[in-house]
Amino acid sequence: KAKAQGKNTLQFFTETMNEEAQLRLFLENELRNAMANEELYLNLQPKVDLADGTICGMEALLRWNHPERGMIPPDHFIPIAEDTGQIIEIGNWIIRTCCDYIVRLTEEGYGHLNIAVNLSARQFREPSLIETIKMAICESGIDPTQLEFEITESMLMDKVDQAIEQMNQLKRIGVTLSIDDFGTGYSSLAYLRQFPIDLIKVDRSFVQDIPYNSGDMEITAAVIAMAHRLNLRVVAEGVETAEQQDFLRQQLCSYAQGYFYSKPLTFELLVQQLPALNRQANNKLFSQ
Ligand code: C2E
Ligand code: MG
Ligand code: MG
Ligand code: MG
Repeated sequence: KAKAQGKNTLQFFTETMNEEAQLRLFLENELRNAMANEELYLNLQPKVDLADGTICGMEALLRWNHPERGMIPPDHFIPIAEDTGQIIEIGNWIIRTCCDYIVRLTEEGYGHLNIAVNLSARQFREPSLIETIKMAICESGIDPTQLEFEITESMLMDKVDQAIEQMNQLKRIGVTLSIDDFGTGYSSLAYLRQFPIDLIKVDRSFVQDIPYNSGDMEITAAVIAMAHRLNLRVVAEGVETAEQQDFLRQQLCSYAQGYFYSKPLTFELLVQQLPALNRQANNKLFSQ
C-alpha cells in the first residue's frame, strides 16, 4: 500500500511539475505578444505627504490583462520576463511611458508630482540602462528629479561595488533613488550609508499589523528614526487604516502609500481624481 501511495505521490508531483512548466511556457510565449497587443499597461498609486496631507507623487505598477486568463499579477510574470530578458524591452517602455505621463501631468498643472518606476534586478544590472534613462529624459524634456527609481535591497547585496557604481551613475543623471521593500532583504547597515539614495520604503509586512504587533511598531519606528539620522526620507507601504497612518505620522514618517488613500489607478482615472484624492488625503490626516 505504501508503495502504491508513493507511486501516486510521485505521479502527482510530476503532473504538477508539468502543469507548472506548461503554464510558464504558455506565459513566456504570450508575453512576447503582450506588448504588441497592448495587453500591458501601467497603474499609478499615489503617495501622500504626511506633513501636509497632499499627494506628492505616484508609483507605476505594471499590469497584464490577458485576453483569456484575465489579470495576471506582476509577481507571476515579471520573474519570467526577467529570465527571458524581455524585462529589458518592457522596462524601457515603462520608463518612456512614465516620462510621457510626467509631461502630461505638468501640462495639467501637476508639475510638482513625481513618478516612481520599479526596476528589476536584470534591468538594474544592464549597462545600457543609464543611456536609456538619459534618452527618455532628454526626449521628453522632463526635470530628472521628477523621475524616481525603486531598487530592492536584495538587488544591491549581490556585487555591492558594481551596484553602488550603477546607483552613482543614476544619481549623476539627477533622478531620485529609493530602496523598496526595506527590511525584507539582508543589507547591512554599513552599506546603507554608502548607497547614494534619497528614500527608504518600509515594507508592507511591517506596516500591516500596526497597531497590534508591538515588535513591528518598534521596527518601523526604528527604521524611520535611522533614516532621519542618515538624512533620508521614508515612505511607508501598504497603509490601510487610520491607526497605521496616525502611528506613522507620530513617528515623523515622511510619506504613506496604500489602499487607505487609493488603490493603483490608470493614468486617466488618476488625473481625473487628483483633486478629490487630494481633498480626501487631507481629510484623513487632519479632520478627526
Ligand atoms: P512593490 O513595488 O513593493 O509594490 C507594492 C505592491 O503592494 C503593489 O502590488 C501594490 O498594488 C500593493 N499595494 C499597495 N498598497 C497596498 C495596500 O494598502 N495593501 C495591500 N495588500 N497591497 C498594497 P503589485 O502591483 O501586485 O506589485 C507587486 C510587485 O511586483 C511590486 O512590489 C514590484 O516588486 C513588482 N512590480 C510591479 N510593477 C512593476 C514594474 O513595472 N517593474 C518591475 N520591475 N516590477 C514591478
Ligand atoms: Mg515598488
Ligand atoms: Mg515596495
Ligand atoms: Mg513591497
